[in-house]
Amino acid sequence: MKKVVLATRNRFKIEELKTFLKNTGLEIFTLDDFPQMPPLIEDGTTFQENALKKARQVYRVTKLPSLADDSGLEVFYLNGRPGILSARYSGDSATDEKNNEKLLAEMRGVAPRRRRCRFRAVLALVGEKFEELAEGECRGRLGEAPVGTNGFGYDPIFIPDGFSRTFAELTADEKNGISHRARAYQRMSDIVIRKLGIH
Ligand code: IMP
Repeated sequence: MKKVVLATRNRFKIEELKTFLKNTGLEIFTLDDFPQMPPLIEDGTTFQENALKKARQVYRVTKLPSLADDSGLEVFYLNGRPGILSARYSGDSATDEKNNEKLLAEMRGVAPRRRRCRFRAVLALVGEKFEELAEGECRGRLGEAPVGTNGFGYDPIFIPDGFSRTFAELTADEKNGISHRARAYQRMSDIVIRKLGIH
């Protein structure tokens, strides 16, 4: 069976990526299967750089094709923040709750029409003699307070276009139908099939 390693420790990203890959017949590994893996350093200045860096490192250590995701939320009123800093927005002891609180505090009193934002995801697939990137985005607006318990990260404060509910109120199927990560994967799926030699 052909193999792929998901270059992330985020269990929510892992679940989503596994859903996208479920019909490929690939045997899917995660970093939990490679305890010797050094921490993945995300010191790039773009989602592309960080995704590529993570996928390269995991390929180098495992010698297996590796799929990495780098993603985040860009709020236009804040010139694209938190952006690549999304995971650590509230500092070294960041949690999803603290990140959401910080962002909502910065946006307190900002009118609904100025609360536009987008999630972006870049997927990088690295294997023997190939490096591929694909990007997806999902536009929407920032809520006023966290609502919903599904998902992770900024899901409770992001209301995607076409919905009046946050990502955290959508089912996994609904989110996976429209999310930035799903759209990046749609662009990547042919490449996965071609490069990993699955039919
Ligand atoms: P990364 O691990 O550096 O790519 O960090 C991604 C961060 O962006 C996560 O920790 C979340 O804060 C945020 N993020 C990315 N994708 C999503 C999503 O689908 N829902 C909610 N937050 C997300």
